[in-house]
Amino acid sequence: MTYTHFYNARRLEQSSSETEFWVRNGRFVEPPADTGAVESINLGGELVLPGLVETHIHLDKSCIMERCRLRQGTLAEAIEQTAAAKRDFSEEDIYRRAQSVIEKAIVQGTSHMRTHVELDPVIGLKGLRAIQRLQRDYAWAVSLELCVFPQEGMLNNPGTEGLLITALKSGAEVLGGCPYTDSEPELQIRRLFEIAVEHDRDLDFHLDFNLDPDSSLLPLVIAQTLEYGWQRRVTVGHVTSLSAMPLKQLEQTANHLAEAGVSVTALPSTDLFLNGRNSEFNIPRGVAPLQRLEERGVCCSLSTNNLGNPFTPFGDASLIRQANLYANIAQLGTGEGLIKCLNWVSRNSAQLLRLEGYGLEVGCWADFITVPACGADQVISELIAPSCGYKRGRKVFQRSSAELLAPLVESGERSSGVLVVENRS
Ligand SMILES: [Zn+2]
Repeated sequence: MTYTHFYNARRLEQSSSETEFWVRNGRFVEPPADTGAVESINLGGELVLPGLVETHIHLDKSCIMERCRLRQGTLAEAIEQTAAAKRDFSEEDIYRRAQSVIEKAIVQGTSHMRTHVELDPVIGLKGLRAIQRLQRDYAWAVSLELCVFPQEGMLNNPGTEGLLITALKSGAEVLGGCPYTDSEPELQIRRLFEIAVEHDRDLDFHLDFNLDPDSSLLPLVIAQTLEYGWQRRVTVGHVTSLSAMPLKQLEQTANHLAEAGVSVTALPSTDLFLNGRNSEFNIPRGVAPLQRLEERGVCCSLSTNNLGNPFTPFGDASLIRQANLYANIAQLGTGEGLIKCLNWVSRNSAQLLRLEGYGLEVGCWADFITVPACGADQVISELIAPSCGYKRGRKVFQRSSAELLAPLVESGERSSGVLVVENRS
């Protein structure tokens, strides 16, 4: 089979008219003059969107709620409970839990993922090995990228740095950081920059996970990014301190982030769940204000972070749900605002991960989903789940619609016929 012809589809920018796509060797191509053998696929008039992009998710510590006990629901407790549960992780156990999440994510339309993998002397390389196996086993549906990082500190945790370097040498794509658990947060940042530059890797920090802008480590990350010329290769996740900054200071910080090409990821589920635990009323939302950052030129994404653990006990791996949650928090209710939320889990996320060939244009990889919606804003406002997904032009999942079963009338037919309801997540 040389070409695949997808027809009866709709695109965002051409919302009223039908469109078609041609795919060859896994990429979108121009309609051929002489087709030869063609497989034709009817997309049922559905909206076509590029596959969704998860920029920050922890597969290795997902789905462990039954092994933990939540009392305060604080960040400190989440770290302590997860660290204790981690002592009993085996490679097989990590693989199976991660597998259950990646399969959920696939049917929610995710086609690319950066997953954070913890390394330290307790877990050793078990997480790395399990997730690298998963990466190979699910390459047919998801492009999975590993970001190895020291969740429990590096300078206070001898042996961790050596494991990170071993992981980079064995193919881990990205180097992550978590200065807030380190005895020497600033030194961790400086050392990780040195390692990243030496091994030519992008950096992705868990940063400023608090509501105190005065203790921000962003100035150091920005300065190091500029010093090493690592623009567009550094991401900071959480940065919830940005939500506590007075507007003038926020705008200034956004300008500095944009100039240094440092990207920002908001993790709304976790940020909402863990922030503001000390407040009894007027509880702060504590989620980075992406729209204000983007206005000033910062590349932004939003992502799931955790599922089924003390950092976030909830989740179904749906990025559409995260985008809807973010729209609620950030009070983005217009069509334009909702499309921003969609872009933060698709086009902008792809930019953040520097994905090659992302999108629906000719030359891009044919990684796409079809959604029974009129427009992208409706996908987010009504949480409409995709009905099909394709990776490199090959179908990787489909979801059937729910049916209403109205009572039969005398003729033996349903009173209003069989009403097919568009599937919702
Ligand atoms: Zn994280």
